[in-house]
Amino acid sequence: MTSFIAPGATLGVMGGGQLGRMFVHAAQQMGYYTAVLDADPASPAGLVAHHHIQADYLDPQGLAQLMQCSAAITTEFENVPAAALMTLGAHRPVAPGVPAVSVCQDRAAEKRHFAYCDVACAPYAVIEHAAQLSAVPEELFPGVLKTTRLGYDGKGQARVKTRADLPAAWASLGSVSAVLEKQLPLAYEVSVIVARSAAGQVVHFPLQQNLHRDGILAVTQVPAPDLTQAVQQRAIEAAERVAESLGYVGVLCVEFFVLKDGSLVANEMAPRPHNSGHYSIDACDQSQFDLQVRAMTGAPLVAPRLHSPAVMLNLLGDLWFASANAAPREPDWAGVLALPGVHLHLYGKAMPRCGRKMGHLTITAATAEQARAVALQAAAVLGLPAF
Ligand code: ADP
Ligand code: MG
Repeated sequence: MTSFIAPGATLGVMGGGQLGRMFVHAAQQMGYYTAVLDADPASPAGLVAHHHIQADYLDPQGLAQLMQCSAAITTEFENVPAAALMTLGAHRPVAPGVPAVSVCQDRAAEKRHFAYCDVACAPYAVIEHAAQLSAVPEELFPGVLKTTRLGYDGKGQARVKTRADLPAAWASLGSVSAVLEKQLPLAYEVSVIVARSAAGQVVHFPLQQNLHRDGILAVTQVPAPDLTQAVQQRAIEAAERVAESLGYVGVLCVEFFVLKDGSLVANEMAPRPHNSGHYSIDACDQSQFDLQVRAMTGAPLVAPRLHSPAVMLNLLGDLWFASANAAPREPDWAGVLALPGVHLHLYGKAMPRCGRKMGHLTITAATAEQARAVALQAAAVLGLPAF
């Protein structure tokens, strides 16, 4: 993986969502051809890539086609089956590699890995069988029950107030392998995005401060308004330790909670660019997608620089509906585009649905105060809550 794959080659990506689309844009800007594997004929990345292989992740023909045209392969969807990455990895450089992706796909393995790296996470218990329900320690209540695999955007989770509520909560998640985490007193949430090369170079973005609504990221602010220098340093060091211990190649995001007592607790990680890093396209001299291209091609990694304070607002499908059961209508884009420093990103998804990530807005400005003021205006134009 240390030899450089020069522009002109084709880079493959497993998954055709918006993360793949923004990766494709970055790769194309640098002169690479792109290939996307995704079964959906209208996938956001498939629509803009040079090659769209419409196949399931485990389809042998589709995987063979992707390998044939790609000099290196990355992933934009963290739940790509390990078997598919293993098949690809036998013939082409795949970044990040199977072991790292496997850890991130399993909340229990992820927490074990945090512990191995000396990174604190919430107290938890693993539940795989009904018999374990009564054995979970009392200190975990009230807690958050999360499926071990396949959860995202708050899906696959249930709040559990007391031990008596646990069996029904577990049943509501399908009685699959799960972790019960203690519900922590959050002051705020941050994330760290690092990129690591096969040669072992590691660079990081400044910390993002993230506000979630209903378990879905809603607002990201950079620089993080509430963060102290000391916590920032600890989070970056923790994320870099995690990347190094995984022998990670690519872009990795670690989500953290900062608790009311100031302590830092790792929540989860994603083996790919992250929604909280989208601001980097407009506010940094290199985006998280540029670094994904660099890491997988063996190009040198150079530390990204934030050139403008930024606020990112996620645009969910809800914005298309004035009320429940109403027909979808287009949000007032002209209204937000009239504001200074607004960058509109839409992912090319034809069907808005509540909770579906349709796009985002990044607001850049000369100062963090100005970025926040304009972001609040943009939110008001679109009917989003203030923050
Ligand atoms: P997802 O994979 O859906 O992003 P997360 O584990 O990140 O799942 O949880 C989504 C959000 O729910 C978090 O960003 C946080 O706001 C809240 N949350 C999750 N776990 C806890 C916890 N143990 N204590 C308090 N809040 C939590
Ligand atoms: Mg999360």
